[in-house]
Amino acid sequence: MSDCLFCKIAAGEIPAEIVYEDDDVIAFNDISPQAPVHILLVPKKHIASTEYLDESNTDLIGKLVLAASKKAKKLNLDGYRLVMNCNEIAGQSVFHIHCHLLAGRPMLWPPG
Ligand code: 5GP
Ligand code: ZN
Repeated sequence: MSDCLFCKIAAGEIPAEIVYEDDDVIAFNDISPQAPVHILLVPKKHIASTEYLDESNTDLIGKLVLAASKKAKKLNLDGYRLVMNCNEIAGQSVFHIHCHLLAGRPMLWPPG
């Protein structure tokens, strides 16, 4: 999608600190980290939010979560949180699906 921040990062049109990339997924450090580790895992395909997922996306979402799991293993994280915000009321500000990988500090539950 031409006017999407994460599509532009995935296409290399806007710089980011890339920490992982394969054919389907790209991961980069969040510009405003909320924890010592704060990585955004993004499918290269544009999907606005989890609201728009259907069965055709099953493999892609599996790959996204697997990439997060592998990255966490590589970083030797002893615990972490994966977050996907859907719509503004839940905190979504960029409307291209992404998974936050947060770690390096204690995480509260329930979240705010
Ligand atoms: P959301 O609020 O949609 O769940 O998460 C969007 C995330 O994207 C936020 O944590 C925000 O800090 C991050 N973000 C916004 N703009 C940029 C950017 O230009 N570069 C990077 N690396 N992260 C961004
Ligand atoms: Zn996009």
